Amino acid sequence: MMMLLESFLGLFIGLYLIMLLARYFLSSRLSNLQEEFKQQSGFSNPNENSITKMVQCEFCRAYFPNQEGVFHKGKLFCTIEHAEKYF
Ligand SMILES: [Zn+2]
Repeated sequence: MMMLLESFLGLFIGLYLIMLLARYFLSSRLSNLQEEFKQQSGFSNPNENSITKMVQCEFCRAYFPNQEGVFHKGKLFCTIEHAEKYF
């Protein structure tokens, strides 16, 4: 009778361990898939640094895209002329 109970418990624990392992492998596979998806979506989207940001000219206070600005002595200007006039 004890032998039967022990083997039953052993079977139960074995099944439980298999379930845990299966869940572990499934979740790690899922997270891998999520990582791949993130990398693929990152490919199609431009990264945040290249997104056009509107900045203000220190001289005339006009707004313009930061890529078109002139960076002079730590300040941003819409044109080189305004950078020279400011100082
Ligand atoms: Zn300006």
